[in-house]
Amino acid sequence: MKSAPFTYVRPASVEEALHVLDEQAGAARILAGGQSLVPMLQMRLMQLDALVDINRLPGLDEVRAAGAETIFGPLVRYATIERLPLVAERLPLLQCVMRFVGDPQIRNRGTIGGSLAQADPTGEVPLSCLALDATIVAASVSGTREILIDDFLVSSYTTALEPGEMITEIRFPLAPHHFAFLERNRKHNDFAVVNVAVVGRRGSDGGWSDLRIALGGVSDRVVLAVESAALLEGTTLEEDAIAQAAQLALDVIDPPTDVRGTAEYRRHLVPVYVRRALSKLRDDHEPFDA
Ligand SMILES: Cc1cc2nc3c(=O)[nH]c(=O)nc-3n(C[C@H](O)[C@H](O)[C@H](O)COP(=O)(O)OP(=O)(O)OC[C@H]3O[C@@H](n4cnc5c(N)ncnc54)[C@H](O)[C@@H]3O)c2cc1C
Repeated sequence: MKSAPFTYVRPASVEEALHVLDEQAGAARILAGGQSLVPMLQMRLMQLDALVDINRLPGLDEVRAAGAETIFGPLVRYATIERLPLVAERLPLLQCVMRFVGDPQIRNRGTIGGSLAQADPTGEVPLSCLALDATIVAASVSGTREILIDDFLVSSYTTALEPGEMITEIRFPLAPHHFAFLERNRKHNDFAVVNVAVVGRRGSDGGWSDLRIALGGVSDRVVLAVESAALLEGTTLEEDAIAQAAQLALDVIDPPTDVRGTAEYRRHLVPVYVRRALSKLRDDHEPFDA
């Protein structure tokens, strides 16, 4: 099957791209890596009047440090994130999850902005951006606004972006260096059945703070297990506390049944994977943050 006809637009600037999005009033989409959009068009799951190709716009594929913040352009590709020393140093969780996304061909083209706009509830990028408390900068002809990741991700394949908006930056605050990531899938690089990303800071007394536990594949969007993290704040992640927090994570999930697994199977997996991820967080790292 081939896509329905559409107009292909290659703007020369972000401003021009925003004008096209505005003129098309919801009937245009940005083309980034094309790894989700092109298959959807070809299967006619989506029809558009115009495709706005931002791939040649300068400056959108850069990562930079700005004080404690790390700022990504929307066109930074998975393959770049996989190998960039700045990401390894500042956001090791984000770098770690990349090798779980598709295969090398997908990672050579797929972008951080495209993955966030796609908002797949099993996606490793939305999951790690939620764990890392990212902020999305969205621009339109009316100006720019900042959207916290928790507000940005609305439901399955739905974000808080308005039709005329484009992601222009993804900003990460200083991240706790300690992290763990675990994923259950049917085969390597398949979309996840369930995935878990945790970050936290371990003090010199062994106590943990700033814990965030993000869960994927468990609801219509990736979710934070806020109460589980709160329960562990200040503890040394003893087995009993971890077991209690893992069980509590069941309160934030509403898992689907789909080709990858039943809701019941996902309910079984969540406490197991949260417990394993928290144990890994505690055991895999140096005694305390520098
Ligand atoms: C075989 C295969 C396996 C895959 N496996 C995985 C996997 O294991 N895990 C996973 O997470 N993903 C997986 N994916 C999906 C992949 O990660 C996509 O690359 C990603 O979901 C979309 O990123 P993209 O840059 O290709 O965006 P595109 O496909 O170009 O766009 C996706 C959506 O985002 C919008 N968009 C893109 N950029 C912007 C922007 N700057 N502002 C506003 N809207 C924008 C587009 O208009 C479109 O609606 C797989 C895809 C394939 C084909």
